[in-house]
Amino acid sequence: MSYKAYERKDLGFTTRQLHAGYDPGEHYRSKAVPIYQTAAFELGDYERCNRLFEYREEGDSYVRFSNPTNRVLEKRLASLEGGTASLSLASGMAAISGTFLNLCRAGDNIVSVQTLYGGSTDLLQNVLPQYGIEARFIDDENDVESYRQYFDEHTKAVYIEALGNPGMNVLDVDAITKLAHSYGIPIVIDNTFATPYLFRPFEHGVDIACYSATKYLGGHGTTIAGMVTEAGTFDWLGGRFPQFEEFYDQFRGKIEEEKLLTQMFTQRFRIVYLTQFGGHMTPQAAFNILQGMETLSLRMDRHVSNAQKLAEFMDGHPAVSEVLYPGLKSSRYFELGKKYFPKGPGAIMSIRVKGGRENALKVLENVEIFDYMTNVGDAKSLIVHPESSTHFGQTPEENAKAGVFPDSLRLSVGIEDAEDLIADIGQALDRSQQ
Ligand code: PLP
Repeated sequence: MSYKAYERKDLGFTTRQLHAGYDPGEHYRSKAVPIYQTAAFELGDYERCNRLFEYREEGDSYVRFSNPTNRVLEKRLASLEGGTASLSLASGMAAISGTFLNLCRAGDNIVSVQTLYGGSTDLLQNVLPQYGIEARFIDDENDVESYRQYFDEHTKAVYIEALGNPGMNVLDVDAITKLAHSYGIPIVIDNTFATPYLFRPFEHGVDIACYSATKYLGGHGTTIAGMVTEAGTFDWLGGRFPQFEEFYDQFRGKIEEEKLLTQMFTQRFRIVYLTQFGGHMTPQAAFNILQGMETLSLRMDRHVSNAQKLAEFMDGHPAVSEVLYPGLKSSRYFELGKKYFPKGPGAIMSIRVKGGRENALKVLENVEIFDYMTNVGDAKSLIVHPESSTHFGQTPEENAKAGVFPDSLRLSVGIEDAEDLIADIGQALDRSQQ
């Protein structure tokens, strides 16, 4: 038997999305990744138990913090992303909130852009401050030099999103990572809308990538799940993070030195936060996400090509006052989009419908293929009115900063036949003006 695809780092993205991280020889030669539907594992003997609990041996004892099905998913995403380690969580919000808690203690702050998923804004603005963690929102995210004024010795991360929600804004990530690193501050990105296929965070200096795997990684709208991946290059012992220095002192000599240093963020996340707070992905969910990821690149190519066609169609439509999609030449993010998203800037876009909220709602009433749903990243096409759903409860000023207006609709373009999607949106837009 010479099967080696599971460990070969030289293979292409599409080959690795099918093979990386799974050696059938370790799992009764099952070709599909088995679902280890158990709450705990037999420890074997006393010596092994000691090794596991001292983290001297990688293995599974209790599924609140690890499971072999999840480990395959974690290795696969780390491989696709070009990082050192990944962690699988119960939802995208578990991944994001756990990331912030791993980075911050009371008295610390996170510097963030404002164009975020509404749940992340709420977490930063209203929940974390109750635990002594401050969010500092950047006024003009396009003015990277201005970020300096928000940094101090308690700043523990710069938080950004690849393809902001829902305006699909593109940031100059190279400039942001360069600036933040000059202060010894790590960059965390929510790469949900882009996926590691369309945007390569670690090749642009980002340190941590978070995902709602519920979206494109799973790809079929069946499963709530989250992931976090670490680049492995940030120096956590540089003086800014006492908690990582304590962690290093506690585990040096137990966890192999190189692994401890290059997977420090993930190790601490698993050992401290998954163990104490819980929130691990279930093995069934891990299996579903693995299934979805097998076709990630193929789906994303199709999503992007459909999105570009639909954006161009709507750009010229008399019922539409604006289409926010970086693949359009009219977008202020067109050039940055070309630089950071050579395969295409995702498949989510926002439009503004002429005639205000009332007419935007008429589009929702008349679509026959697009589904009226708050989700994104499904193989099926979805549409939503952000003001009354994803961004519900925010003030008009906050919404305007995020690119949400009463007449805005957000579309998540699926992989159906492009001509059907164009015809469906076309007739719904025509009716919106009647
Ligand atoms: N990040 C982004 C960009 C999202 O769109 C969402 C959910 O819509 C989340 C994070 C949260 O993910 P989940 O619903 O899996 O908790």
